[in-house]
Amino acid sequence: MAGIVVVFDFDKTIIDVDSDNWVVDELGATDLFNQLLPTMPWNSLMDRMMKELHSQGKTIDDIAEVLKRIPIHPRVVPAIKSAHALGCDLKIVSDANLFFIETILKHLGVMDCFSEINTNPSFVDEEGRLRIFPHHDFTSSSHGCSLCPPNMCKGMVIKRIQASISTEKFIYLGDGSGDFCPSLKLGDGDYVMPRKNFPLWDLICRNPNLIKAEVHEWSDGEELEHGLLHLIKKISEENNANNNSAAAQLISVDCKFETMAAQALPQALPVPH
Ligand SMILES: [Mg+2]
Ligand SMILES: [Zn+2]
Repeated sequence: MAGIVVVFDFDKTIIDVDSDNWVVDELGATDLFNQLLPTMPWNSLMDRMMKELHSQGKTIDDIAEVLKRIPIHPRVVPAIKSAHALGCDLKIVSDANLFFIETILKHLGVMDCFSEINTNPSFVDEEGRLRIFPHHDFTSSSHGCSLCPPNMCKGMVIKRIQASISTEKFIYLGDGSGDFCPSLKLGDGDYVMPRKNFPLWDLICRNPNLIKAEVHEWSDGEELEHGLLHLIKKISEENNANNNSAAAQLISVDCKFETMAAQALPQALPVPH
């Protein structure tokens, strides 16, 4: 392990568009989506839209086919594969849903690169309709974070991951306003990579003193790949240097003991009579 956790947002970070909008638009339900959006939370609306598409005769395979041709920059998959090959622990934190994300990642051949997908749960019911539920069940209790939508606080996910690891450094990549809360949870020595001219980047630019992590912006998949691999190399070198200096300290302690023992030995030997 490289001692690095890389956390990716999904929509407009790994893929170039928003998967929810893509499915709704490609299957011709944009007008109803726009009409209902002011009346309910986004996550509930997506479940409602899946009901609508199902009633229009759109199958789960139709949805999967649409997802498989979602736009993605050609350097993003190589970036994911390289980060994984370098020993980083890759995770996803997304406000999309599990069916969309898994369908796309399997299609791209990178599903196995990720150790965790934190998102809104979904399943195909007995009628073949995709059901989408909130990551955080806000009908029973609020997650208490005013920055985040009711169904998911990405910052809470980051805090849980932080509590489960020891010395690993974070690299967080995202674009949206929902990525600001988790960015605030990152500490000194961590890195945040906001997509330039997107809401997360704006929020960071306007609140620079709230961010402890080092900020590295990117605009497209090529810059994402370059920036991510550069940071992985940099952190790995720092980790190696720290390990070497820790090893050097151990060696010098050993030598000291040997010196002390050598000095002490003649004096401590009893003189035989
Ligand atoms: Mg996003
Ligand atoms: Zn939050």
